[in-house]
Amino acid sequence: MAGRGPFIGAIADDLTGATDLALTLARGGMRVRQVVGVPDASTDLAGTDAVIVSLKSRTIPAAEAVAQSEASAKALLAAGTHQLFFKYCSTFDSTDEGNIGPVIAALMALTGEDRTIACPAFPANGRTVYRGHLFVGNALLSESGMRNHPLTPMTDSNLPRLLRRQTDVPVSLIDISTVRTGSGAIREALKSTRGIAVIDAIEDTDLMTIGAAARGLKLVTGGSGVALGLPGNFPLDPAGASDTAAVPSGRAAVLAGSCSEATIRQVSAGLAGGMPGFRVDPYDLAAGRTTPEHAIAFATDAPGDRPPLIYASADPASVRDSQEAFGREAAGAMIEEFLGRVAIGLAARGFDRMVIAGGETSGAIIAALGVTELDVGPEIDPGVPWMIANRGGNPVALALKSGNFGANDIFLSAWGKLR
Ligand code: ADP
Repeated sequence: MAGRGPFIGAIADDLTGATDLALTLARGGMRVRQVVGVPDASTDLAGTDAVIVSLKSRTIPAAEAVAQSEASAKALLAAGTHQLFFKYCSTFDSTDEGNIGPVIAALMALTGEDRTIACPAFPANGRTVYRGHLFVGNALLSESGMRNHPLTPMTDSNLPRLLRRQTDVPVSLIDISTVRTGSGAIREALKSTRGIAVIDAIEDTDLMTIGAAARGLKLVTGGSGVALGLPGNFPLDPAGASDTAAVPSGRAAVLAGSCSEATIRQVSAGLAGGMPGFRVDPYDLAAGRTTPEHAIAFATDAPGDRPPLIYASADPASVRDSQEAFGREAAGAMIEEFLGRVAIGLAARGFDRMVIAGGETSGAIIAALGVTELDVGPEIDPGVPWMIANRGGNPVALALKSGNFGANDIFLSAWGKLR
């Protein structure tokens, strides 16, 4: 099909990040299509304002993350994409071996750009960048719960310093005083930038200013917050925002693989609110004492008034313990695979509404379910939309919740938003 390509072609390093970005752009009036995995020849990238490719590249080896991101960028550029956006987590989620720096460097090389911006700020969720340091609420990133993350423990809040350990591309800072002077001042600062400019942002108004300054940049990088200001740069059809597809109304369940503090609070609130709980113990999984069939039977037999909650979420000491026993990656992979198999079993038994907690966990479950395209549905909490997938002709509603997102009662309150 001829016609213009997407205004924005985004590559997200995990699935919940992609849905969060999809929501931000849809709210900005864009028609948004989310594609799971590197696009291939059969993927239709035309006829939308924004295409978001969601990868599961946050914690894979850097060379693989670069290869997948490059392949996605090539497909997006070949479809006529005006601006590429590399989306990563608002808590950065990238250690010294991590992928953000290498992927930015590769996308700069691919687009021939010698400058771009990096801004993970998401003030609505308490993530702000000040003088190059990332804060989570009132704490530096390195003093927040992220220091105990199972896969990407964050021990440095200084983003330029962290990026310099990941890439040879020069990294500089555009600080809040320049941002507050306005988008013209940011553009001036960008003119003299070679490489990656980390940009301070404390409030949404800062992100709008940065978004306006990013007009014409071939490559933008950041959290979904920086996308707040991007739709305004393009001539959008006012009637064009995404339609919400048919909403399913079958059985509901929560699958939680996140050990982030917010998810742990949400699990407690769900159990206290009467959700039937099935705790997944890594030792029981490894020994075969717990199988997917146990969890599927538990959910299927649970009384219908509250959705069952199947969770591996555990406190930092328990996570450390199972990581020492099985290895960090192996423990994560074992649980992700388990939850994927549970999701398949539940879908086959009429569960067509699921809240999934955890970025990696969501990616694993979407892959297990074989879902490749998602439409944006109603928003539950900031950054957490319902997404409607088409599975063999039947709609399935999936809320893909990044571990640290969502109100404490989200496992109880999410369902009301679907109607
Ligand atoms: P978040 O969005 O909070 O970062 P993720 O799903 O991305 O959550 O990552 C959490 C990782 O921790 C997953 O790989 C998950 O399988 C793993 N995990 C969950 N529970 C445990 C546990 N009890 N011990 C060790 N690892 C765990």
